[in-house]
Order: sequence, then C-alpha cells, then structure tokens
Amino acid sequence: PTPGAQAIQIDGLRVSFGDFVAIPHLTFIARYGEVHGVIGPNGAGKTTMMDVITGKTKPKKGTVRLDGSIDLLGLDEPTIALAGVGRKFQKPSVFEALSVRENLEIALRLKPRSILAELRNWSDRRRVARVGEVLNEIGLSAQADLSAGVLAHGQKQWLEIGMLLMQRPKLLMLDEPVAGMTDEETSHTADLVRRLRSPERAVLVIEHDMAFVEEIADRVTVLHEGNPIFEGRMEDARQDAQVRAVYLGR
Ligand code: ADP
Repeated sequence: PTPGAQAIQIDGLRVSFGDFVAIPHLTFIARYGEVHGVIGPNGAGKTTMMDVITGKTKPKKGTVRLDGSIDLLGLDEPTIALAGVGRKFQKPSVFEALSVRENLEIALRLKPRSILAELRNWSDRRRVARVGEVLNEIGLSAQADLSAGVLAHGQKQWLEIGMLLMQRPKLLMLDEPVAGMTDEETSHTADLVRRLRSPERAVLVIEHDMAFVEEIADRVTVLHEGNPIFEGRMEDARQDAQVRAVYLGR
C-alpha cells in the first residue's frame, strides 16, 4: 500500500439496534501510515463502528472497504481478521502459562490451515526473526522467556499488541489501550503506539484520555451520537466549538 492510501473506507453507514439508531450516516476513512484517534463521549458510537469493521455487528446500510477494494460487510469475523483487521480489546487476554515468546509464536499459529501450510514453509530462522522483531517493537525483548502471567498489566497489553502485529494487520484497532495504566505505562504505551506507525498499516485508537490521543494521533475523528462532528488535528479539535460543547456538556 501507498502511505496516505485508504486502509479502511466507510461510506453511508447506518447501524440500528431495534428502533434505536446508533449510527445514522457515517463516512470515515483511515489511511496507511497514520495513527487515527476516534474520540467522543460515552455512547458516541465508537465501539459500534469497530464492531462493524470487525464483522461483529452487521449494519442496515453502507459499505466498509479494506485496502481500497475488499468489501468487509460480506465477510464473517474470522475472514475479516485474516484479511488484515486486528483488534485489541480493553482487557488483555494473553496465555499466562506460556512465555512471552511462546505467546507471539502462538499468535502465528492461530491462523487457519491454508496459512498454516504457508507458515510451514517459513524456516525456523525466519520465524525466530519475526518474533525477535516484534519483541523489539513492543519493548519486551528482555522479558521474552518470562511467563506472561508474571508481567505487569501494561506489559500484558503490549504483548497482546505484539500478538496482533505477528499477523501483520493492515488495520490495527486499539480499544482504550491505556485504560487502567499507571502514568509511566501510559507514556511507554504512547511511545509504542507512535512506533506502530508504518506505511503498511493504519492504526485506529479509541480512547477517552484526550491527552494521550493528542500525543499519538496524526488525525482525530470526534463522534457524537453516531455522527462525526470533527475531523483533523487534536490541537484543532480542542479549539472547535462543537467539540467543546459535546465534552463540556458531559
Ligand atoms: P461508545 O463506544 O462510543 O461509548 P457504543 O458504540 O458502545 O458507544 O454505543 C453507541 C450507542 O448504541 C449507545 O447509545 C449504546 O447504548 C447503543 N448500543 C450499543 N450496542 C447496543 C446493542 N447491542 N443494543 C442496543 N443498543 C446498543
């Protein structure tokens, strides 16, 4: 992919739950090479948007395209994940009894058979190299042989991001990555997320912590009642009258 090209493109999205319209009409683009923050008060529709991208929720109307062409709405959740959508939920779910390194290796194996066949062709050296790269990216090289269970909360979160990176996602979505973290862990996570910026990847971060978003995001979208009320730089969002009204009115 070319940096700046559309990793995910949502057009005319409408999502309702019974009579309740959570997202009336959403257009949204996340681009390769960017970290894109999605913010907005509780109930704004952030989770619903992610659920649509991953295939968990099917909308009434609209299109969702990955990498310019792949229509995600016709695919089921595992196929969407395989197509290159990685999502990290708030709570870490690592395999506590396995080492950090083994968790990363397992992440490669959690792929369907066809991919497994391809992986068998990977030399051990290549696999070890990939694990090494990711360990380095998530800053856990020194902990590679520790049980994941003994890691601090923040380190577990980074490991889980690493597990997603093993699959080389085109779109990586992080749901409140700094919830429950200490200040030190938060600042470490900001460094990590900034390093996740890559020409082959778009990173989408849903977050309540505005200071964190300002540190990491190239661009933010502010959602309110399912509508994007602002898109641009976080420093400009802070000055925007509508955004301020939505946040101050809480
Ligand atoms: P956010 O993640 O921004 O806090 P959500 O996407 O979780 O917002 O929710 C958007 C709106 O949709 C909220 O009003 C929420 O109550 C509603 N909603 C979300 N999921 C469901 C569901 N499964 N059934 C009914 N209403 C839902």
